[in-house]
Parts: sequence; C-alpha cells; structure tokens
Amino acid sequence: MTQAKLSIGTFENGFARLPDRFFSRLVPEPVSSPRLLLLNAVLAEELGLSTGNVPPDALAHVFSGNVMPEGAEPLASVYAGHQFGNFVPQLGDGRAILLGEVRDLKGRLRDLQLKGSGPTPYSRRGDGRAALGPVLREYLISEAMHALGIPTTRALAAVLTGDQVLREGYRPGAVMTRVAASHVRVGSFEYFAAREDLAAIKALADYVIDRHYPEARDAASPSLALLQGVIERQAKLIARWMMVGFVHGVMNTDNMTLSGETIDFGPCAFMDAYDPRTVFSSIDQFGRYAYGRQPGIAQWNLARLAEALVPLIDRDEAKAVELASAAISDFAPIYHEAWLAGMRAKLGWVEEDEGDRALIGDLLDSLERTGTDFTLAFRRLSETHAEAFLALVKQDELLAEWLIRYQARCAREKTSPEDRANAMRRVNPIYIPRNHHVEAALAAAVEEGDLAPFNRLHAILASPFVEVAGLEAYAEPAGPSERVFQTFCGT
Ligand code: AMP
Ligand code: MG
Repeated sequence: MTQAKLSIGTFENGFARLPDRFFSRLVPEPVSSPRLLLLNAVLAEELGLSTGNVPPDALAHVFSGNVMPEGAEPLASVYAGHQFGNFVPQLGDGRAILLGEVRDLKGRLRDLQLKGSGPTPYSRRGDGRAALGPVLREYLISEAMHALGIPTTRALAAVLTGDQVLREGYRPGAVMTRVAASHVRVGSFEYFAAREDLAAIKALADYVIDRHYPEARDAASPSLALLQGVIERQAKLIARWMMVGFVHGVMNTDNMTLSGETIDFGPCAFMDAYDPRTVFSSIDQFGRYAYGRQPGIAQWNLARLAEALVPLIDRDEAKAVELASAAISDFAPIYHEAWLAGMRAKLGWVEEDEGDRALIGDLLDSLERTGTDFTLAFRRLSETHAEAFLALVKQDELLAEWLIRYQARCAREKTSPEDRANAMRRVNPIYIPRNHHVEAALAAAVEEGDLAPFNRLHAILASPFVEVAGLEAYAEPAGPSERVFQTFCGT
C-alpha cells in the first residue's frame, strides 16, 4: 500500500461520490524504479497543477502511482460494452486508475487517470500494465489530435516503471497520465442497463448532465436532452475525424465518451491514400471500424446509449422509444451538415452552393480511383497555383477537369484567392502523425532508449498547419518500402 502523499493541486472528486457499485477503490500497485520520460508542462499549467515546483524524481513517483497526490481518491470504474458488436456485460478499468478531478484555469473539471498502473478487479486475464510503445503512441496521437483542434483526451505525463511487461516478448513498462473531460462511456450506462439498475442509470445521467450538459437539466426530459446533446457532440466529433483521415480502429461502445472527446488510441492511425475501406487494426478482420464506416458505427453505438436511457425518458415505454429513436435518426442530418461544412472549409468555400455536394463527391471518387494521399490533396489545393495539385495527382485527366470546375466554383466566392488559400491552410494540415514516422519514433524509443525521434515528431505535430522548410519528409506519405499496413492494440 502506498501511503506517502505529495501536493500537486486541489482535487474536487465528484465521481467518487457516486454509489459504491460504480467503482472499486484501490491504490495502484507500486512500480520498482519510476523515471519521468515526458511531462506536458503547458497542460499542467492549464490544469493549475504545481508540477513546476516538484523535482522530476518526485513527479515520477506521482505519475507512476507510487505516491498519491494529496486529495486523490484512487478508484477503478466499472463499465460494460459492445466489443465488435458483441455485448460484454462487465469490463471496467482493467489497467487504469482514476486519481480524481481537478478544476482547470477555465473552471472546467478534468479527470486525472493513470493508465498502466497495475491490476484492478476488472483486469480479467490482463496484467494491468502498459508497455512503453503504446503509451508513447497514445501520448503522441492524442496530443496531435489536440493540435489539430479535435476534442480529445490529453496526455499529461509518461513514466518508465523500471519493470518489464510480457507482450510478444519482454518490453519496458510505462504508465501514462491521461487527462479527460470525464471517463464516462456509453458502456458505463450499458453496465447498469444490463442489470436493470434504474437508480444507478439515473445517478449517472444526473452526474453527466451536471458535468457536461447543464442546459439539459431544465429540459422537459433531461435524459432525452442528454441523449440529444451526446448525439450532437459525437456526430460533430466523427465529422472532425473524417476531415483529417483519422481511423480510430476500435470504436467499441466502451471507447465512446459521453463528453464527446476522442478516447483510447490503441490501434488508431491516419489514412494516407484516400479509401473509405481503410483499416489498420490487426484485430479488425472484417473492417467493422473502417474509415468510411465510422459515422454509421457511431450512430449504432449511440443507439445502445439510447436503449439504456429509455426507462428515464418517459414512463410510457412506447413514447420513450419513439423519442429516443427520433433522436438517433437525427444523427445522420447533424453529421452530414457538419461533414459538408468541414469539406467546404477544406475547399476554401465560405458560401454555400447547391452543387457543392456533387463536386466534393467527384473529388473523393477521383482521389480513391487514383490512390491519392488524402492530406496532401487538400493541402496542395490550398496553394495558389494549381500545378502542385496536378503534380500530386500525376496529371490525371478527370482530376484536371474537376480542377476547372473547382476553380469556377471558387471564382463565384467573394474572398480573394490569397485569403482563400490562407484560410485553407488553417484547416488542411501539412503534418499528420503518419504511421511510418510514428512507428520509427516508437521503435527508437523502445529498442534503443532514444527519445529524440519521438520528441522531434511530437514537436512537428504541435503545429500541424504551418509548413516549415526542411520538414518535407514529415509531410510526405510513406514510400513503398516504408508503408505500415497494420497497427496493434495498445495492451
Ligand atoms: P481497450 O481495447 O483498450 O479499450 O480495452 C478493453 C478492456 O480491456 C478494458 O476494460 C481495459 O481496461 C482492458 N485491458 C486492456 N489491456 C489490459 C491489460 N494489460 N490488463 C488489464 N486489462 C486490460
Ligand atoms: Mg478502452
């Protein structure tokens, strides 16, 4: 048991006040010799934490779970989930421990959670630990998503534990500190719904409304308003993913938050050549979570949330089902509107034109047919000269014709070509976490203990929209010999 304590900030733990059946209280199992690898000082400051005054050795003990910060009430939460469509009635934080909540400088409560901090009652056959590679992967990609302006959990720290974990072989163990708006998932509701524990569903809904949807409190049906709020945030979130070619890879209901943040960066990756069927995850054999399927899957997951909330929505079950179904149907128009608005911004259009949808569709069809890099295609369109785009698509005839229609459409806009190009460069990234660079950076860190490639990539991804001379290799897709086709779950 760890008893030593250190103050890093003020905790206000709301989740720990929920009934006992929501979690198990426990302290992390100590690690042998923690070493602080990464600390996100900017985020620490945003959270109002006093990490700047604490020596790295002491921080390593805090962010490995060896020493509890003053005010923490460590717990592992329970949840259920549909994994690849199959319901698992009990999952839970199998290798994560929530320390508690702190209020950030903007007044928002944020969860601090250790991931890889040892076994919990929900570990099933797992060891409760995390290997360095997946920890660095989550650190890098969640921070890259944030820099892209996409709602996401954040990375506060990464610590080497000094212990080995057994995966395909022995790997250095690590603990990551995750910061989230909260960790309540669709699966959290499913857990209590499966047990017909209405009081718990009500308590959880109230908690989520208070924390994330306070406006729902005054609605005729707060739980319906909650459902509608989550649907809207998730529809907009998935549209944001689609704009940057993000493939989450494991959109199980336990990996979908009520807050509307991206969570769980196991096998995720960014698409290079545009293809809606793109899948990277080694365990997604049937492409359930392919790039183009993400909106439909999100809606499917939200229907599971709706089912759990039905008993709260109206005492008349038929009426509750009707209201919940209507909310779920609304996902499609909300998503499509967000998608279209995002695509218009990517193409530099401020105004709306009836033919936009068709013009966008024709571009995507051509990118798919020509196997063109999704990120670079939009970035090259952002140049004020069309040659860069035509060179990228290798002078494809249909795309050359499309470009003429695109230019005619742009000419009808009031903005000048220069302003349009600048606006496009603010939404079309030049640097995304390309898989081959991610894998190379992780390999150097894990196999050679060299963090330099990781730090370099991390720094580049912090400013994804600003092109820097000399970084061409980070903007380009992988060459034939460098391509990474598969990613593995972060266990
Ligand atoms: P994920 O696919 O990362 O969302 O994980 C699914 C479930 O497996 C969650 O309940 C995790 O807490 C649990 N889990 C994943 N890896 C481990 C591990 N090494 N030890 C214990 N539980 C784990
Ligand atoms: Mg998960």
